[in-house]
Amino acid sequence: HGTFRRCRVALPLKIVHVTVAYNKDPSPVKLNLGVGAYRTEEGKPLVLNVVRKVEQLLINDLLVPDYTVSLLVSGDIMRNFLECSVLHYFQNRVTTVQCLSGTGSLRVGGEFLAKHYHQRTIYLPTPTWGNHHKVFNLAGLSVKTYRYYAPATRGLDFEGLLEDLGSAPSGSIVLLHACAHNPTGVDPTLEQWEQIRQLIRLKALLPFFDSAYQASLFCGFASGSLDADAQPVRLFVADGGELLVAQSYAKNLGLYGERVGALSIVCKSADVASRVESQLKLVIRPMYSNPPIHGASIVAAILKDGDLFNEWTIELKGMADRIISMRQQLFDALRSRGTPGDWSHIIKQIGMFTFTGLNAEQVSFMTNEYHIYMTSDGRISMAGLSSKTVPHLADAIHAAVT
Ligand code: PMP
Repeated sequence: HGTFRRCRVALPLKIVHVTVAYNKDPSPVKLNLGVGAYRTEEGKPLVLNVVRKVEQLLINDLLVPDYTVSLLVSGDIMRNFLECSVLHYFQNRVTTVQCLSGTGSLRVGGEFLAKHYHQRTIYLPTPTWGNHHKVFNLAGLSVKTYRYYAPATRGLDFEGLLEDLGSAPSGSIVLLHACAHNPTGVDPTLEQWEQIRQLIRLKALLPFFDSAYQASLFCGFASGSLDADAQPVRLFVADGGELLVAQSYAKNLGLYGERVGALSIVCKSADVASRVESQLKLVIRPMYSNPPIHGASIVAAILKDGDLFNEWTIELKGMADRIISMRQQLFDALRSRGTPGDWSHIIKQIGMFTFTGLNAEQVSFMTNEYHIYMTSDGRISMAGLSSKTVPHLADAIHAAVT
């Protein structure tokens, strides 16, 4: 059986497990609410028109990226994007490197910190995206947690958060979801962000923003503008302090498979930023040498051109509005059924996911009796819903809690 005969089958990821079970289910009413990607009302993946348009321009040679240029640090392409969105307040004290989507940006940031930062402890919110623990552990950091979600209110445990960050050793790294916290959909208010900022600066903690859903999307559009998404990050930039930002362009442009992302490290001065950049190159070089250029060319083209940019924001709003409408429809459906409990968190939470508060037993009841699939923590993807399927979900939730 060869030298790998002792290699065991890995446990499937929980989320893959959900999809495998869904695929096997022959029921015509089955519903997959595990998916973390946007789906249309018809349940189809969405390729943005503006992306199609730019791809056509690329095919017709009307936009010619220089494929021969080494993009180890893809200065121009990604900086175009960043200047257009969040980071143009950074002036020159930021360094930005293109990485493999959000995950790759977090990993490069983690490896850089493990090598060049004096504190090796990173605090993650409880709960958080499951991969965070593995990414930062493997990067060589030691992972601790801070309180974030309060099951009783299905909202933020703000006191717990302040207490835990307040007792973290000075210099510790703190991972913050820039907006649309995954899996809870619970974000601090802007006033709470300001208090978090003050505490972080007071204690000389180092903020590391995970911005997987930002410049978009599922939040910000609740308040009606791209800018709103960026506000928490901007607060931390405006005070002149240091921070890291890992950005993914998967969700906001529907470019999941292109793996476009960027890590930005905001330093105290341009001089430090350029030294940091030289070290980031050394982290990246043995990992993947250079990032892929195609997806980044699409992103940069859209953000550089005013008309394309506007088209993008309209399409984003379309996605966000559909998600928000699903929240309202589900909330209304539960209310009209008189389902016991306060379901207002469904419309209060932000982003692609609703953290329903259903427990593992209720989830498995819904799967067995109603063919509805989701992770056992009760997280449902609002993008997996449509006006047609809301009543079925509401029936299932109603039966699960009564
Ligand atoms: N961070 C969070 C909070 C996420 O939810 C995700 C995607 N599920 C990522 C990072 C990774 O994003 P990407 O697919 O761009 O690597």
